[in-house]
Amino acid sequence: MFSESLRRTRQAFLGRIAQLIGATELDEEVWDDMEALLIQADLGVETALKVTSALRKRVQGEGLTTRTQLEAVLREILLGLLPAPGPSGLEDERLLTVVLVVGVNGSGKTTTIAKLAHRWKGEGRRVILAAADTFRAAAIEQLEVWGRRVGVPVVSGQIGGDAGAVAYDAICAARARDCDLLVIDTAGRLHTKYNLMEELKKIRRVAAKNVHAAPHEVLLVVDGTTGQNALQQAARFKEAVGVTGVVVTKLDSTARGGMVFAIGHELGLPVRYVGVGEGLDDLVAFDPRAFVDGLFEE
Ligand code: GDP
Repeated sequence: MFSESLRRTRQAFLGRIAQLIGATELDEEVWDDMEALLIQADLGVETALKVTSALRKRVQGEGLTTRTQLEAVLREILLGLLPAPGPSGLEDERLLTVVLVVGVNGSGKTTTIAKLAHRWKGEGRRVILAAADTFRAAAIEQLEVWGRRVGVPVVSGQIGGDAGAVAYDAICAARARDCDLLVIDTAGRLHTKYNLMEELKKIRRVAAKNVHAAPHEVLLVVDGTTGQNALQQAARFKEAVGVTGVVVTKLDSTARGGMVFAIGHELGLPVRYVGVGEGLDDLVAFDPRAFVDGLFEE
């Protein structure tokens, strides 16, 4: 399922790893090269070191020599870096489930919300969206356009208005319209004079105060083409708003798919979905094994 969207990552990453592990002699140089390749593939330094040393230990300890053996062990190690997605906050039965979607501007947040709304509506959920990014007129309009296309209502407020008030209105609207799934879009501007994390915390508080145990899921959208930068952002969001899962977008247009391993290993966050294109159906539920297999396809 990831096959086509992983083409670039596969070419940049595993084509070359395959050459390395096919080498006749696994000397010091091969291990150094492997480390460098994994770092280039955006696994991040820490994760790349861990993978190389784990592989090396197994190869030496078990006397592995063939390429098939090495590849099998490498797959196992990579898979071990990815936390199992586990149950999401969406699966429990409740009257109203609230999903907060966070991420910086340009990450693909609005498109992802539209894709999620489309998917969940298709699963029989009664979805409503809240445009709580009150800074960008374009963001509100864009969400409204997507809402019409998907066929779900969108609650929006005034430009420059209070994002917490939009969240509150959306909760009331969800109840009045008998919706069971509210997805809240949030601001994503990184600006020194403005505290994004405080704004997100405020929306979180409004949700918690008005809906039991909300938000039930906090999805962080990260742009897969930005590699390690995205990882640093993710760490900040995780700390400030309690991210419960990640959506990695634009996997189709990047060779940096290796960052998925760093998100799993360094942040311990499950990737829930990946974006593989600009259309409404271009969102794939993340499956760790299928992802690793996709990297090794011939
Ligand atoms: P936002 O500022 O975070 O809300 O970002 P948008 O949702 O407006 O997306 C920014 C751009 O990325 C748009 O041109 C989208 O079509 C594009 N985009 C979003 N997700 C994907 C994806 O999975 N693959 C590709 N190729 N493009 C995407």
